[in-house]
Amino acid sequence: MRRKLAAGNWKMNGTASALTELGNLAYSCKSAKAEVLICPPATLLYRAANVCVDSKVSIGAQDCHNATYGAHTGDLSAEMLHDAGATAVILGHSERRADHDETDETVRAKAKTAIAAGLTAIICVGETLNDREAGKTLDVVRAQLAGSLPDDTSGTTVVVAYEPVWAIGTGKVPTVEQIAEVHNDLRASLVKRFGGETANAIRLLYGGSVKAGNAKEIFAVAHVDGALVGGASLKAADFAPIVAALDASA
Ligand code: PEP
Repeated sequence: MRRKLAAGNWKMNGTASALTELGNLAYSCKSAKAEVLICPPATLLYRAANVCVDSKVSIGAQDCHNATYGAHTGDLSAEMLHDAGATAVILGHSERRADHDETDETVRAKAKTAIAAGLTAIICVGETLNDREAGKTLDVVRAQLAGSLPDDTSGTTVVVAYEPVWAIGTGKVPTVEQIAEVHNDLRASLVKRFGGETANAIRLLYGGSVKAGNAKEIFAVAHVDGALVGGASLKAADFAPIVAALDASA
């Protein structure tokens, strides 16, 4: 049985005052059955983890370096993030793939380091609008999945987030049929590579303009085990109903 996961990505948003929202979210989610994770900017990790002590909300990071330590000015290692209170890290988000030229190989190396440090790697894959219009969605997503997941992938070490690039922050959402097609295909690829037992334990999130208003229909899609949410994770009043919709889904 895969535990549902509602993950929020604050991206480059939030200073100390945002911790009040986090406290509100922890209060709103005090009876949540799903796992709730908020990934604030690294500057807030330690304080966010303290705000969420003894709550249902855990804290994650948005990236890590693939090396364990050394001469990488401005970067953070997975061990540092874990030390600051993170339990998970988002890797290969399309904004990092685009802004920092991250390749599948880089993402896979980061995932290996993250797992070794005790973090769950939330690995993002997803096609651009050009890919989709060219009929290449499944090819692109399969290649990203194959290239980005390390061999020590399991249900506890890795979560896969399907995030169509054209749906992120745009208000555009794929149809439930389109989400179902990709999630079924992801599950099939995982079964082929890792075998049924491991593959069926790996959670698959959908991400891209998830809001309270569309969460219910997205969570009803087979093989959608939760969501990775950007904009609607910044306010407790927007994110808590998404968590509630996930709890209410079968
Ligand atoms: C994201 O950043 O991963 C994301 C899904 O953003 P949004 O929910 O704002 O589309």
